[in-house]
Amino acid sequence: MVIEELQLHNWRNAGAVAVDFPPGLTLVTGQNAQGKTNLLEAVFFLATGRSHRTSHAEELVGFAHKAAHLRGVIRRDSGTFVLSAAIADGRVNRQRDGKAFRRGQDPLGDFSAILFAPEDLLVLKGAPAERRRILDLDLGQAAPSYRSLHANYAKVLRQRNALLRNYEHPAREMLAAWDMAWAKAAVALTQLRARLVKETAPHLGRRSAEISGGPPAALVYEPSLSGDTVPEALEQLAARQEDELRRRTSLVGPHRDDLRVEIDGRDLRLFGSQGEQRTALVAFKLAAVEVLSQRPGGAPVLLLDDVLSELDQGRRRNLLVAAMVAQTIVTTTEPQLAGMQPDRTIAVRGGEYERTW
Ligand code: ATP
Ligand code: MG
Repeated sequence: MVIEELQLHNWRNAGAVAVDFPPGLTLVTGQNAQGKTNLLEAVFFLATGRSHRTSHAEELVGFAHKAAHLRGVIRRDSGTFVLSAAIADGRVNRQRDGKAFRRGQDPLGDFSAILFAPEDLLVLKGAPAERRRILDLDLGQAAPSYRSLHANYAKVLRQRNALLRNYEHPAREMLAAWDMAWAKAAVALTQLRARLVKETAPHLGRRSAEISGGPPAALVYEPSLSGDTVPEALEQLAARQEDELRRRTSLVGPHRDDLRVEIDGRDLRLFGSQGEQRTALVAFKLAAVEVLSQRPGGAPVLLLDDVLSELDQGRRRNLLVAAMVAQTIVTTTEPQLAGMQPDRTIAVRGGEYERTW
């Protein structure tokens, strides 16, 4: 799939601008704080309805404006369609060809993107929430039901936590009324995550071995739930109930999941060198591209935000080889260091995008 055209209106520091992309490689250059990341974020937002930098949609709207709009022309084998997103009052309204649209509702009209940003390089050793974020944002795009299962779990969890928080002694019957809904939502999300990680792991293993010339890295899902049935989830919940009442929050479930990458049985969260973490992250992003490539829409758009200068020759080459099968948009402050032959170059200055080549 390819994004051919993107229009931004009051998106972050962009006023009203339009950008065209070729199917191959686009290089976006500019000094710091001009709008390079904002452009990639906009493409990613069209694909996922989410930003990789914030969960507060109102931050995406230009200062002093009330609403932001994005409009992208997407081409797939099955045809061309227009995806748009409007953000106002912190709410997001997405449309495809003018009709309300939710990701996955009709996978034939989906658009997907994998974004790799410098912050991601810290994810492996960071907090579990960071690893859940890449699981949700990257692998979540590979399953039509992911978004709704995730949102449903988040809703049930919020309600359950409110109950635990607001009552000095929450009536156990009231809590129990939520347990079944919680268990169903928790099990569904856990099962889906397990399936997606299982599908991704072999690609990650192969890619990491290619890059490092060493043993393949293993990607392992660490679900908070130990079983994968509703009765097992309820049993686990019951075992933690006293703790939960004391600490007034939910202590088991997918909001506590984690991901682990291992090399030769070594957990990179604890023992990963910088190089190993970089390799694993590049391999993870490439693996996500491969998983999405097997979906009906074909290869996702690959968005590389300022990462090439952070990587050595070998890792950079691997990313760029993968980039040959996907439409790729790369940002950099130092075009001479990116070491590539783009099909187009766009120069960014103060939220204005100018095609220079
Ligand atoms: P760097 O090379 O440092 O990563 P960049 O070109 O990627 O820079 P962006 O992250 O795209 O920079 O941000 C460009 C500018 O947009 C920044 O100065 C930022 O403060 C500004 N900006 C961010 N959000 C908004 C907003 N909601 N309204 C207006 N401007 C914003
Ligand atoms: Mg940036």
